[in-house]
Amino acid sequence: MGSPEDIQALLRSIGLDRQEVQTRLDFLQWSAADGARLQQAVDRLGNAHEDFVEHLYNHLGSFPTPAGLLQQPGVLPRLKASQKAYYQRLWRGPHDADYVRERLRVGWVHERVGLELKWYLGAYRLYLDQMLTTLFDGHAQHELFASLLKAVFFDMSLAVDAYSATQRQALESSDARYARALRGANDGIWDWHIDRDQLYLSERWASMLGLARDELGEGSAGWFARVHPEDLPGLRLAVQQHLGGSTPSLQHQYRIRHREGHYLWVLLRGVLSSDERGGQRLAGSQSDISQHKAAEQNLQHAARHDPLTGLANRTRLQELLGQAQERRQRPGARHAALLFIDLDRFKLINDSLGHSSGDLVLVEVAQRLKRCLRPGDHLARFGGDEFVVLLDDLAQLEDAERVAQRMLDELHLPLHLDERQLSVSASIGIAGLGEADIGDDVLRAADLAMYRAKEAGKARFARYSAELQERAARRLQLESALAQALERGEFDLHFQPICRLERGHNRVVGVEALLRWQHEGSWVSPEEFIPILEESGDILTVGEWALFHAAWQCMCWQRMQPGLYCAVNLSSQQLKVSDFARRVARILNETGLPASCLILEITESQLMEDSAQTLACLRELASLGVRLALDDFGTGYSSLSYLKRFPLHILKVDKSFIGGASHDEDLATISRAIIKLGQGLNMAVVAEGVEQSSHLDFLRAEGCDYAQGYLLSQPQPAWQLDPLLLQQPAYLHHGRAATPADYCI
Ligand code: C2E
Ligand code: MG
Ligand code: MG
Repeated sequence: MGSPEDIQALLRSIGLDRQEVQTRLDFLQWSAADGARLQQAVDRLGNAHEDFVEHLYNHLGSFPTPAGLLQQPGVLPRLKASQKAYYQRLWRGPHDADYVRERLRVGWVHERVGLELKWYLGAYRLYLDQMLTTLFDGHAQHELFASLLKAVFFDMSLAVDAYSATQRQALESSDARYARALRGANDGIWDWHIDRDQLYLSERWASMLGLARDELGEGSAGWFARVHPEDLPGLRLAVQQHLGGSTPSLQHQYRIRHREGHYLWVLLRGVLSSDERGGQRLAGSQSDISQHKAAEQNLQHAARHDPLTGLANRTRLQELLGQAQERRQRPGARHAALLFIDLDRFKLINDSLGHSSGDLVLVEVAQRLKRCLRPGDHLARFGGDEFVVLLDDLAQLEDAERVAQRMLDELHLPLHLDERQLSVSASIGIAGLGEADIGDDVLRAADLAMYRAKEAGKARFARYSAELQERAARRLQLESALAQALERGEFDLHFQPICRLERGHNRVVGVEALLRWQHEGSWVSPEEFIPILEESGDILTVGEWALFHAAWQCMCWQRMQPGLYCAVNLSSQQLKVSDFARRVARILNETGLPASCLILEITESQLMEDSAQTLACLRELASLGVRLALDDFGTGYSSLSYLKRFPLHILKVDKSFIGGASHDEDLATISRAIIKLGQGLNMAVVAEGVEQSSHLDFLRAEGCDYAQGYLLSQPQPAWQLDPLLLQQPAYLHHGRAATPADYCI
């Protein structure tokens, strides 16, 4: 008992260094003479010490507490022997560091065996009393001094008790405060002597895990064995970093196993100090943060998922994409692809059935798409009616096409919503991660491919290609150039004559105004720039500009050729402008062109969009006296019901029929049927795309009266057309003045 380390710790705790020992001796006025005096006298004492030791233990034996301690076998003779040795050393010295250490050791042992200080001090009084008798026997004042010793020692024991009780109280109240605070914080406490691997864990630390303290063992192994295997390396690293001095304190969150098998999230805090032996000691608290962690995880989940479908949202998709890109860098990585899915005409469902039905459709679509995936693939809702799928671990990129087809088939199945049966389709764009020219922007590539699928007719998939990228870049460039084209005067109108086929010659009865745009020195096809104008909405101003200039130009030509008409193409957006008919009337008014000389050309797809509004607008235009032509007939739905329902005056047979009619019997039959259909409905029929004389022969043979095409004239600027109109029989009068009736369709 009382190892050198224990005694060293005691010395440090009392602060008994060489200086302190000297101070104590000085205060006792101890000198070398005192030592020498005691040393010389001890031999003269005879058996005084032996007698005293007997007397002391007899006396102690009459008090129950010390008597109890002395009862154990072998204890009394050992104590008597060491007591005697002690008195010898007390008198003989030397009173050096060794001596001090030995006294501390004896005190340490006595405290540990439970011998209170009052017995200890009382024994000194008895000893001094005995020495008094031995040294000064018979001296007159002996009895008086002995009484004083008793009184002084009584006081001494009281003073020692008062000191220690006060210290104990202070310690207890700070302990109680500490314990209360800990109970309040509900934290567990740990204290780890690292060199000895001795771990103290508080009751609360263990009860958090549903365990009793002693179930965790003495060392750290029991603790670390319960740490979640994924979190163990992190925990060890955090401890190492703190021990190595790279962190001012240890603070680490990890999972630890509860008795019932589930894991708790805990926050470990601690700080390094040295223990009483100078070893490393890491101690601190551990709190259960499972609830906090669960709330945090819920929030995290909410921030990364779409509340309607429960699918990953855009933020989460970006994370997944980042991880997939990283995986692709590794050697031996397989293919990965992104599918961008956009529902076709979803707006129609939302607008006609309401948003809550739209939501139900989206949820059902999400489930159907999910069914087409393998574990490890990811489905995200990108926004509105857009979904994105990340396919990982593909043997070849073509496998993504198979998945896309499966999705199209799955979506194609009828969807039941209350009593209704809906049909949903989607357009899907596919791009491979790491495809040569797209770099990191695979989402944009898949989106581009999706647009390609839409353009190609929807309800299909399309793969990304470099050409798509070039087209998108060009479109972007055109878009920004078009925004300023009108202001810069870059638009122009070309006019293509429309002729009445007569025996011997073809008479120009009208012109079609065709918009032209010159950008950076070259002409851009209207097929390319008109859809861009429509998307940006600029078609409204550009269309109005074209209408005004065409009417104005036609009005100029009316002087040479009264009754010449002008056909102007319309965009569907113009028909949606509520006061469009009034705008047309204003233009006619401003230019002076008679309404009967204006023909507005619309296509079938325009008639399909929002037909009630379109119908109202067309009726209003017709009531102005303006005539309406159905352009490109035969290329769209060729719906006969439209021909009856809308106030149409002219049917333009698309150039694709006329071009093939002279050598393709089927096309000839269709062209023939369209011509008869138009005429049967009392409409003038104009054949477009007449390029060869054989086309003209065919049209003449079929009784088609009007034609337009390169054979008759290319579209050209107004000034180039002037001479052609000047040669017209109408201008030459031919004996009589031409009347507008000569030029009417
Ligand atoms: P569209 O209304 O069907 O116009 C006829 C198109 O056929 C013109 O193409 C014309 O140049 C072309 N064409 C004429 N004769 C022949 C021929 O013999 N063979 C062939 N292969 N083609 C011939 P363009 O000028 O490229 O215009 C294309 C389309 O752009 C027009 O088709 C029309 O839908 C639209 N567009 C043109 N100008 C305007 C406009 O001012 N407003 C609107 N909204 N659309 C316009
Ligand atoms: Mg046209
Ligand atoms: Mg046409």
